[in-house]
Amino acid sequence: MQSGSGNSISSSTREKKRNVRSGRAIASTASPSTIRDINRSILLSLIRLHQPISRAKLAVMTGMFRSSISDIVKELVDARLLIEKRAKPEGRGRVPVMLSLNDRGFEVIGVSMRFDETTVTAAGLTGRLGERLSFRTPDAPVEFVAQVAAAAAALTSGSGRRRSRSIQQIGVSVPGLVDANSGRLRWGTRIPAYSDFDLAAALGTAIGAPVAVDNDANLAALAEVTIASSEHDLVRDFVFLDLGPEGVGGGMVLNGELYRGHDATLAAEFGHMVIEADGLQCPCGRKGCWERYVSDRATLRRYSELSGVPAGSYSQFLKAAIEGDQLAQSCLETTARYIAIGLLNIAFAINPAAIVVSGRIRDAWQTVSPLVEAAFGATRLSLPVRKSRLTSEELFLQGAILLALNRAFSKPNVGLHATVPART
Ligand SMILES: [Zn+2]
Repeated sequence: MQSGSGNSISSSTREKKRNVRSGRAIASTASPSTIRDINRSILLSLIRLHQPISRAKLAVMTGMFRSSISDIVKELVDARLLIEKRAKPEGRGRVPVMLSLNDRGFEVIGVSMRFDETTVTAAGLTGRLGERLSFRTPDAPVEFVAQVAAAAAALTSGSGRRRSRSIQQIGVSVPGLVDANSGRLRWGTRIPAYSDFDLAAALGTAIGAPVAVDNDANLAALAEVTIASSEHDLVRDFVFLDLGPEGVGGGMVLNGELYRGHDATLAAEFGHMVIEADGLQCPCGRKGCWERYVSDRATLRRYSELSGVPAGSYSQFLKAAIEGDQLAQSCLETTARYIAIGLLNIAFAINPAAIVVSGRIRDAWQTVSPLVEAAFGATRLSLPVRKSRLTSEELFLQGAILLALNRAFSKPNVGLHATVPART
């Protein structure tokens, strides 16, 4: 359900959208119903964070009139987004009716595409991940679409709890550049056949539901900030980094919203900030990019150069470092020093409230963290740097589900539109 206009988009809204798309309108203005739509989104988000919660508590939290809250809650109950349950009686007072999200009121599919394997899962409005199905990521995007559609059908049609459900939205996490407005892929270094593939359109046709696509690290940032807020750790501005096997993915949340860059294709690609002039060659075409010094492969290369033997797997390397292998520890410390250089650059540029680091290096965080803290201590910057709450793979999948759920929780988009100069 699209917040702002519900399931039925009025003809004036449709005309407004057409004008915005054609470039005739430069703003989305507030209509009399906009305030109600914004409040509806705020209430739904508060219920998500504090469920089960009473109308009276919502009134205290928001300062809204009880009658306004009751009107909006009725609308949400009618739309099957909320369920009401009477609380246990305590003493003589009136027993309040508690509100919770209706997990079965909005059914979504989340897809996490990795270079080697793709995982598909289903979830309801609470975002709790259900059963998962995985398959090897095919070389051809058409085959990918067919396999995702088959997995989605298997997850939503079955017996018992899995009885036939209608999918209302699909969210896809992809490891590469993507136009998040259209859902068209741009490029991914290890999935060349997917370049310029209109994934949202193809998957939408195959499954018969709207599709949103975004970069994996962006979605991991969204997942991390959402999980943090559900634990009452509300951070409005933070940077997420996935120190991966080959490169570094980044996602940035500013003022509580994912920042996607002016054209929704590229932002927070901190892995490609140059930290060494004439340094190591990077696939992006430049030399000395940060990811060439902090990825798992970079650390393994350092180890094998110094030891004179092939390094084996990154898991074996980390195990050796944790168990006291001095050469492995020294290589990990060098990586930690390079990590600190990048983190300080980000801190000076963005000044976020926190930086969250994910990737397999989380397993050796007790070695990495003191070196990073020492580097921060040498500056006047004070900024918490911590490891992510979940592994990157879990965050990508959770992020895909949250992307799909965005439609249910989103606020109306009002304000002036930027005019984007045409590319030549
Ligand atoms: Zn680069």
